[in-house]
Amino acid sequence: MIPRLKPQLGGREIAAALSVPRADDVSRFERAFAELMGQPEAIAFPYGRTGLIVLLEALGIANGEIICPAYTCVVVPHAIVRSGSEPVFVDSRADEFNMDLDLAEAAITPNTRAIVATSLFGYPVDLDRLEQIRSRHPKIAIIQDCAHSFGAEWQGKPVQCAGDAAIFGLNVSKIITSIFGGMVTTESAALAARIREIRDQRLSKPAFVKSLRRLLYLFATIPAFTESGYTWVNRLERSGLLDRFVRYYDENCIDMPGDYLEALTSVEARVGSAQVERYSEIISSRRAVAEWYFDALDDVPGLTLPPRVRGATYSHFVPLVEDRDRVLEAMLHEGVQLGQLIEYSIPSMAAYVNRCGSRGRSFPVADDLSRRTINLPVAAGMGAAERTVAALRKVV
Ligand SMILES: *Cc1c(COP(=O)(O)O)cnc(C)c1O
Repeated sequence: MIPRLKPQLGGREIAAALSVPRADDVSRFERAFAELMGQPEAIAFPYGRTGLIVLLEALGIANGEIICPAYTCVVVPHAIVRSGSEPVFVDSRADEFNMDLDLAEAAITPNTRAIVATSLFGYPVDLDRLEQIRSRHPKIAIIQDCAHSFGAEWQGKPVQCAGDAAIFGLNVSKIITSIFGGMVTTESAALAARIREIRDQRLSKPAFVKSLRRLLYLFATIPAFTESGYTWVNRLERSGLLDRFVRYYDENCIDMPGDYLEALTSVEARVGSAQVERYSEIISSRRAVAEWYFDALDDVPGLTLPPRVRGATYSHFVPLVEDRDRVLEAMLHEGVQLGQLIEYSIPSMAAYVNRCGSRGRSFPVADDLSRRTINLPVAAGMGAAERTVAALRKVV
């Protein structure tokens, strides 16, 4: 079974995980990550969402309105609510996946304190439009959510370098991973110092058992994402037995993982450092697969291809189909697991439908995307991509 996602983990990461811990593992990872992203400061967290909570506090934001996409990972509004503010949702543009910045500007009120601009699926946000908003509203913080995009570029400018700070997620579904983990980067030394201060106050040192669990998770992950391993993973996933590991949200409540205030472990930091070294190789291979998909799929009826954008990093390759459930099921029979990505529009979720950031407004593009996106494998290599295309031609 070809997996819908695949962390690029191997001997180097195992060796790093098993090497003797050093007191500065986490700060080494931070420095390597900062350098990779061209930012002077990077601060490590156990999850991207923990980073966002601490960042909002460090920016002095509480009880405000934070503008964010309706179509994004649900952990983002969760973190906003946890920080004491209210997410105000904005629909996506019809011609791409990212939040419509005209609608975002129209959603600004005197209580707006920040805009979370997400470069979804690796598509760079329009930095020129964002800069225009910023010049009209200089007090509103701009936070780049780079959990999908990492170093995506808008007309040659890396998205993470625009704005007050950027957040990254580093779990095994991301472009590079530190097992779990997250980062905040910023150009401001003063902001970085505040973030570190709050982090070190609020987060506890990781317990030994957490490091052990992370190590075991790493060892389970490597065989799980091989093709033979994944046949089993898919069976277990369908039976619900993996819910504890793969379900990251509950439709009905705004919750956080039990250890979200337990700092990043040094095992994770060492794996993250090893991944930083492989970043350019990982990105070029994703781009090659994505470019190939554009050409190989451009004549398949029933499949709407995603936009082809220079500077995108393709964390996901996301065409639209009309009858998603049928396509997903038929592809499973062909030995390819496609994901449905992202399968919800946040303002319609039970936990958000009655909050003031969604109530009485409609999000037609996000609703449509949430029903029609499929996710082709970009990380399992060219052979897997070729088999996926052959199967899609049969199925769609
Ligand atoms: C993964 C992700 C995050 C961060 O997720 P954590 O699980 O908290 O690390 C943030 N935004 C988006 C869009 C994501 O996909």
